[in-house]
This record gives sequence, C-alpha cells and structure tokens, in this order.
Amino acid sequence: MATPLTADRLLKALRDEGLEVHEYRSWRTHNRNSKGPWGPVNGVMIHHTVTKGTASSVELCYEGHSSLPGPLCHGVIDKSGAVHLVGNGRANHAGLGDRDVLNAVVNETALPRDNEADTDGNRHFYGFECINLGDGQDPWPEAQKLAIEKVAAAICRAHGWSQRSVIGHLEWQPGKVDPRGFSMDTMRSRIAKRLGAKPDGPKPQTPKPPAKYEPFPGSAFFRMGRESRIITAMGKRLVAEGCGRYEEGPGPEWTEADRKSYAAWQRKLGYSGDDADGTPGRTSWDKLRVPNV
Ligand SMILES: [Zn+2]
Repeated sequence: MATPLTADRLLKALRDEGLEVHEYRSWRTHNRNSKGPWGPVNGVMIHHTVTKGTASSVELCYEGHSSLPGPLCHGVIDKSGAVHLVGNGRANHAGLGDRDVLNAVVNETALPRDNEADTDGNRHFYGFECINLGDGQDPWPEAQKLAIEKVAAAICRAHGWSQRSVIGHLEWQPGKVDPRGFSMDTMRSRIAKRLGAKPDGPKPQTPKPPAKYEPFPGSAFFRMGRESRIITAMGKRLVAEGCGRYEEGPGPEWTEADRKSYAAWQRKLGYSGDDADGTPGRTSWDKLRVPNV
C-alpha cells in the first residue's frame, strides 16, 4: 500500500534507473481522477498496445478513443526502449480484475489464476503500454524489454516493493492476453536481479527533436538562380498569408515573383522602403514560420 508518486518523483525515479524519458504534452495533469480514486497504489502493470509506430501510439495512449478516454496508461515504452509519459493519476488501463490477484500483489505472494473481474485496477496499478502488435509475430527488441525491466524496477525501488508487485494485464483480467511475446515470470526474474543492484544512474537525455521551422538561411541565400525546397516552402507560406504574387508556382527557384511576394509579407508586417525590398531578413523570416519539410 502506498501513496502514488508525484510527477516529479516518478520522472526522477525513471531517469535515475538509466531510462530515456520523454514528457508528452500535459502528462503531469492528465488523468481520470474525476472518475474515481487513484491510490493507494500497489503495483505495476505491463501491457502491449496492439499498435505500431511511436508517435501515433503515444498520441493514442494520451487521447484514448471514443469508448475509452485517455490517458490509457502512465507511460508508453517504445521499441527503442524510450519511455513517453502520458498520464499522472488514474488512467484507463487495467479495468476490472481479480481481487485475489490484488491481494497477492499487496502481500507479494504467489499469484493465483485470474478468474474474476470484481476489482477496480485503475485505482491500484501504474500502467505501461509497450508498443507491440500483440500478434505473436511482432518482435520485442532487447532494448524494449530492458526498458520494461527498468521502468518496473524504478517504481518498485521508489515504493520499496519487490518484483512480485509487477504483473501483466493477462495476470489481472480474465480474457486478456497482454503482454504477448515474453513471459512475465522471466521479466520478474530480471526485475529481481536489477533490484539487487544499484540503479544505473541518469543517462544524458537526448536533445529535443529538430525545430519544426526552417532556420533563417541568411539574406545572401536568396539570389537569382538559387533552387531549394526552402524557397518552395517559403512561397507556400507567403501564399497562405495572402502575400503570394505568383503567376505560377511557388517553386524551388528564387524568382522576381518570390521577391515581390516576400516584399508583400514585409509590408504586411509593417515594414516599408528598403526594409520591404523583398529580400528576406531574420525577423520577418522567423515570423513567417516556414515549415522544416
Ligand atoms: Zn492491457
């Protein structure tokens, strides 16, 4: 029995275990607490998503769907072993399961077979969705299994639990098959071994993904004869802003039509004279937000 970890403590526990952790949108305040209690927490539950692709799986687990609103778990473990936090608090992942299983988790004794669905699991379990199709064919890369081991160990360590506090959805709710493709007994042995050693310690977190917008390439970039996808992307943005002065295009080659269009954008921003001569400058470029395509 334990009070749920705060967002900061959860994040620190995962990073201290050596995991790469990404914070998705407003995960810290995203939960289903208005629908029922969260805590006391007693264990960690592992799932598979029945999806592929990291970005779409993370979004789905955050948003949920019409019949099951998100968050659908606390974190998503992708195939490279990175963890994406999507919820903090009660989450729609465990559903109703077996009271005897919960008691075994609380007491950290051997698990009975799950044959009843009489107990609210969303109140008592942290949930982690692992990206896998769950068809018995989709592989489980070692990096992903290692991340499952580390996530579970991090939370057990934070609460003073043993590996017996970690179960699969299939051990909780009759009819569930996830996670499919490795054995929870084997995973619990790995977690036990890890809990017997010190945590790996934080690893350097990967830098943010590249900017969504094209950085300013410098005024000299824009000269007659220059051809670049950046110029096409710029032209499309100018058209979208109502500044397009193209007979045809926009295209990749810098033309007089591009210059006139850009000058219209500069005037729209309030520039005049030489400041609206159609040669891009840094300030007007940054305001145009040319997508990095
Ligand atoms: Zn599940």
